[in-house]
Amino acid sequence: MVLRAAVVGLLVLALAGCASDDVVEMADNPQITVSHMNETPARQLFGHRTEPTAGRPRSYGSYARGCLQAGAQLPETGPTWQAMRLSRNRNWAHPEMIDFVQDLSRFAATMPGWEGLYVGDMSQPRGGPMLTGHASHQLGLDADIWMLPATDLTLTRAERESLSSISTRRAGGAYVGEAWTAQHWQLIRHAASDPRVARIFVFPGAKVWMCEHETGDRSYLRQIRPWYGHHYHFHVRLTCPNGNDDCVNQVAPPPGDGCEEARQWQRNILNPPPPQPDPNRPAPVRGEIMMDDLPAQCINVLLGAR
Ligand SMILES: [Zn+2]
Repeated sequence: MVLRAAVVGLLVLALAGCASDDVVEMADNPQITVSHMNETPARQLFGHRTEPTAGRPRSYGSYARGCLQAGAQLPETGPTWQAMRLSRNRNWAHPEMIDFVQDLSRFAATMPGWEGLYVGDMSQPRGGPMLTGHASHQLGLDADIWMLPATDLTLTRAERESLSSISTRRAGGAYVGEAWTAQHWQLIRHAASDPRVARIFVFPGAKVWMCEHETGDRSYLRQIRPWYGHHYHFHVRLTCPNGNDDCVNQVAPPPGDGCEEARQWQRNILNPPPPQPDPNRPAPVRGEIMMDDLPAQCINVLLGAR
């Protein structure tokens, strides 16, 4: 309860000057009370903020327990990208991620058959837990990039809701499928080689394929991590930007190219081992993330004015 007391203490600070001592004004939302904030899952609170806070861009906490101050918006359409599923309002991120996505999209546009990127979910305007999907994506440092080559950058809002990406796997992710191309490899290799990138998550068959086809520098393979799903898109995770001292990096991947680990994932898909606890499988839902599960700065991020 120490944390909860700290939460209330910060709120009291935030409330200084308010007429009532238990009502908090939210800049673009109805007022909420301290008890409402303490009893409401954080995804309900962050999921309804439609605008970013002011201030300096800062990621607070860890990828699956954190928030984003002063998020930036990826323009819905650029010369080499379109943001997809605009109704979700998840085309927000730390400015370093916005730069990264734009850079990667310019690279994509140099590849045959690609005019740029279709960009899937990044973060909410203030980061934090989401109403639906994604355990991570809370810091503005995660982005999902569609496997579907962007060939038309004039899609309407409605088309960006209805168009689907393509699956690039077969055999449950043990192998790449017919839709997988050398351009997917080039794109993921380029992303994984960027010093801003901490990890890329993609289905195991894609990593094994890259392990088998790479004849040059293999160092980028370390950043590519096999994971469940991730065949309609791949997921890019950046390291904490310089100066974001309250952003918590994930432990670096083990040294080496990680190819044997990927082959073990592949074998487990093809010949599933007898059921036993799998340390890699996401833990079952352990209840809702509440405000006092997040860094204390996230209260100000939640309540701050634009
Ligand atoms: Zn993702």
